[in-house]
Amino acid sequence: MTESNQSMETPEEFQLRARAWLADNMPRRPEGQGHLRNFDRCRELQKLLHEGGFAGVCFPAEYGGLGLTLEHQQALDEETMSYDMPLALNIPTFGIIGATLVEFGTHEQKQRYLPPMIRGEEIWVQFLSEPSSGSDLASLTMRATRDGDSFLLNGSKIWSSGAQSADYGICVARSNWDVPKHDGITVFIVKIKQPGIVVEEIVDTFGGTEFCQEFFDDVRISMDDVVGEVDAGWTVVRGLLAHERNSMGNASPLTSGLELAPTDHVVSDIVDIARTTGMASDPKTRQLVGENYALRFVQSETTNRISSGMARGQFPPTAGALLRLMGARAAVRRSDVALAIAGSGAAAWHEGDPAGNAGSRFVGRQAAEIGGGTTEMQRNIISERMLQMPRELAADRGIPFNEVRHNAATTQKSKK
Ligand SMILES: Cc1cc2nc3c(=O)[nH]c(=O)nc-3n(C[C@H](O)[C@H](O)[C@H](O)COP(=O)(O)OP(=O)(O)OC[C@H]3O[C@@H](n4cnc5c(N)ncnc54)[C@H](O)[C@@H]3O)c2cc1C
Repeated sequence: MTESNQSMETPEEFQLRARAWLADNMPRRPEGQGHLRNFDRCRELQKLLHEGGFAGVCFPAEYGGLGLTLEHQQALDEETMSYDMPLALNIPTFGIIGATLVEFGTHEQKQRYLPPMIRGEEIWVQFLSEPSSGSDLASLTMRATRDGDSFLLNGSKIWSSGAQSADYGICVARSNWDVPKHDGITVFIVKIKQPGIVVEEIVDTFGGTEFCQEFFDDVRISMDDVVGEVDAGWTVVRGLLAHERNSMGNASPLTSGLELAPTDHVVSDIVDIARTTGMASDPKTRQLVGENYALRFVQSETTNRISSGMARGQFPPTAGALLRLMGARAAVRRSDVALAIAGSGAAAWHEGDPAGNAGSRFVGRQAAEIGGGTTEMQRNIISERMLQMPRELAADRGIPFNEVRHNAATTQKSKK
C-alpha cells in the first residue's frame, strides 16, 4: 500500500488491515505472560512491524513514520494486545527521545536518527541523572567544553535504564558555568560504543541489571549532534521531561502497544493470591480485589481523557504530570493490596507461588514513584505550573552556577 493510500485510510480501515496482518505475521504473547523486555527480541519484533507497515504510526512520514493520527495508533493498540510487542522500545526510545527529536531536532538529525529508530535498528537511552543531580536536574555537573568545532564531555551519568544494550543516548551537560544553572545547559546526541565512554552495570535488590552508570572521559561530540541551541538546552530538557511524563502516563502518540495486559496480569495475580492463600471468600479481601478492578478502570479512563485533551489542546503539556502521578500511586496501591492479601506468604514462598511475587513486587514498588521524576516532583509541577501556586524557594535562583555552593561530592571527576 502506498503512502498516499495509507494517509487516506480511516482508523477503522487501518485497524482491519492491522488485524489481518498481525494474525498472519506477529507472534502471539503466551497466555498470562507479560511482554518480553529482551532488547534483541524487541529489535526483531520492531523490524517485523516495520516490514508490515505498522511501525512509527504517528511519526512524520518524512522521517520514516506513517504520519497518521492518534486514532490510528489507538486502533493498532487495540489489535496488538494479544501479540508479543516490542514494548521496551516505547520508553525512552520512541515516546521520549523520538518525540524530543521530532520537536527539537534539526532536519538532518531527524533524517539520520528517526528512520533507524522506527525500524528497531537503534535503541536509545537517557543520560540525565547524575550521582548528585536527580530531581534538581538543572544542578548537573557533567562538563561540556568547547573544542573547535566540537565539544568534549567529561563526568558521570547514573540510573540510565538499559544503557548496556543501547546504541545512542541523549545526554545533558553543562556548557556554561558563568550563568544561572538553567542557562548554561546543552543537550547532545551521544553514540555509546566509542572510546572514552565506560558503561558499568548496577546490580539492584533483585540481582537485576536494569540500571547503569557511565563515565565519560573526553568524549568528542560534533556540533551536528547538539540538539537545540548551545547553552539553551533547558528548553529541550523541559520538552523531553514533558514527553517522559506523557509516555509514562500512556499518553504519548509515539509509543505503540499497551502495557494493559501486564496490568490485567497484576489484577488477576491478586485474584490468584486470594485463591491460593484461601482468602477468596473473605469479605475484606473481596473488597480489595474489587478496588483494584475499579482502580484499573479509572486509570484507563483518566488516561484517555487527559491524552485526548492534550492532543486537542484542552489540557497543557504539563497535564502529563497528572497521569504520571496517578500511574505511580496506582502501582503502589496494587502492590500494597497484593501484599496485604498474601500475608506471610509474601515473605517465604514455594517456587511458582503467586504470593511470592507479591513480596518481591513490594520490595521494588518504590521504583514506580521515582523513575521518570518522583511523585513529589509531579505534585510540584501540578501545583506550580497547572494551578499557578507560588514557586518553592530556591537559594540558587538567578546566581551564576560557579558561585552556587555545592557539596564536595558534586564536583565530578571522570574515571581514568
Ligand atoms: C525505574 C527507574 C528508571 C530510571 N531511569 C533513568 C534513566 O533511564 N535515565 C536517567 O537519567 N535517570 C533514570 N532514573 C533516575 C531518576 O530520574 C531519578 O532517580 C529521579 O529523578 C530522582 O532523582 P534522585 O534519585 O537523585 O533523588 P533526589 O532528587 O535526591 O530525591 C530524593 C527525594 O527527595 C525528594 N525531593 C527532591 N527535591 C524535591 C522538591 N523540590 N520537592 C519535594 N521533594 C523533593 C524526591 O521526591 C525524593 O523523594 C531512573 C530511576 C528509576 C527508579
